Amino acid sequence: MKRLATVILCFLFLLSAVSVWAQGKYPKDQKPASRKELATVKPAERQPLHLESAAANTSIQIKFYYQRTGTQNPSSATPKPKNWFYYFNQVCGDVDALYKGASTYYGCVPAMLYWSATMTHSKTAIWVYDPAQGTNTPHTVGGVVTTGIDCFADVIIHENVHVDQIRRADLLVTHEAKGWSWNTTPNNHYDGSSNDLDTNDNDVPDSWEPYGLEDAAYDAENTAEDAYKTKDWANPGKQY
Ligand SMILES: [Zn+2]
Repeated sequence: MKRLATVILCFLFLLSAVSVWAQGKYPKDQKPASRKELATVKPAERQPLHLESAAANTSIQIKFYYQRTGTQNPSSATPKPKNWFYYFNQVCGDVDALYKGASTYYGCVPAMLYWSATMTHSKTAIWVYDPAQGTNTPHTVGGVVTTGIDCFADVIIHENVHVDQIRRADLLVTHEAKGWSWNTTPNNHYDGSSNDLDTNDNDVPDSWEPYGLEDAAYDAENTAEDAYKTKDWANPGKQY
């Protein structure tokens, strides 16, 4: 027993010595990079990180992954966009897209959804909500389910159809300061000679009929699932 105890004591001493030695090879205080520094590291800027260690010339490849629903990105927008929006919007977004937080909507064009004769919404602004980074269920036969960054891409495509509908309808009522009215009763769908341009009052100009404002937007969603997968920061995985 005495011999066994000696062996154990020796082992413990050796272990502590190794431990002290090992600790001595690392900085006493590990100062983490600031959140902003981490957030500005983009996949294209991934570089080998060289570490001082007992083994000389050791280098490892590291990748920074954004916290999907965090807000450590450098955006100065209000509300501060989630990281998924900040990053996805660089890949397949729109310069006029704005993150707007929680909603049952995936996205909207405020100049259409919230049109009024006194509104100040940009005609090209696209508001994007949290469901846009989730799952997009197809509304058309043969449509594909898209998820994550691919769902986001479809939302941007969809909303840009509404932006274009506004642009085209406004050409019919150039005498109206805020353009063709949407989601409003009574509407302003008359030309300069008081001719009714929307006789069934469905917001679709008669000259477009048969036409569905939403159908056209859904039909345009043509993103293939995983089309943007390699552009996702979590490649070869998918961040969602
Ligand atoms: Zn729509």
